[in-house]
Amino acid sequence: DLPIIFVVTPTHSRLEQKAELTRLCQCFMHVPKLHWIVVEDRESRSRLVENFLSKCKVVSSHLFVKTPDESVLKANESRWKKPRGVQQRNVALSYLRFEHSRSKGVVFFADDDNVYDLELFNEMRHTQKASVWPVGLVGKLKYETPVLDSQGKVIFWRTAWKGTRKFALDMAGFAVNLKLITDSPKVQFRSGRSIGMLETNFLSDLNLELSDLEPKANGCTQVLVWHTRTEKPVIKNEGKMLKIPVDQRE
Ligand code: UDP
Ligand code: MN
Repeated sequence: DLPIIFVVTPTHSRLEQKAELTRLCQCFMHVPKLHWIVVEDRESRSRLVENFLSKCKVVSSHLFVKTPDESVLKANESRWKKPRGVQQRNVALSYLRFEHSRSKGVVFFADDDNVYDLELFNEMRHTQKASVWPVGLVGKLKYETPVLDSQGKVIFWRTAWKGTRKFALDMAGFAVNLKLITDSPKVQFRSGRSIGMLETNFLSDLNLELSDLEPKANGCTQVLVWHTRTEKPVIKNEGKMLKIPVDQRE
């Protein structure tokens, strides 16, 4: 029996939300035994996401939790200041422990704005502890990746910031066996004192060592996920549409 891939996606209301979710749905549709856990950053489920998921042909669970005000990035703060999607991923962890503690599976944290190659899911499916792979267009590099020694073990990280992190990778750059999450019932995402530490803290808290990591994507030579970011739509013309009758147009 194939292990289930649990894909956890935090998502928040904005103009491009449905477009992002549509891309993800139409990707995940093609992956067998995938369970999509969509966690809205809201006080309750939105009609938009509810209707969307009822039409999307992917097995899904629809959760929600609102990010507390003090954790929300203010307009004048740089986006490095506060991590996003933390409480949402943590609610998904609780849900997995509560509802799927006996399932055989792997957990992958897939933000709603990235692009995922279908091949990535084949790569992560049989993760024993934690799989790792390159991520494209992240960290102001063409790609970040684990760097392997001649035995295929991770020895360091190709990254341009905070190279002292034990696990210097992006959220999209790893998947963990569900058993690690159920075996460590208290582990959650925590940003700690400094930013950019979510991923490394999480993997450290799960008691993983570098030697536990399973490099995928042909020895980490292939980019199968891109940390794309969608341009903020500008809709300032909505209020000043030109109402010229068709027969008066040139
Ligand atoms: N997100 C959220 N609440 C927010 C901002 C973002 O739940 O207030 C979600 C977002 O939809 C995405 C994830 O958290 O799935 C990461 O956010 P984003 O892509 O903006 O972060 P970045 O890629 O810039 O690090
Ligand atoms: Mn993003």
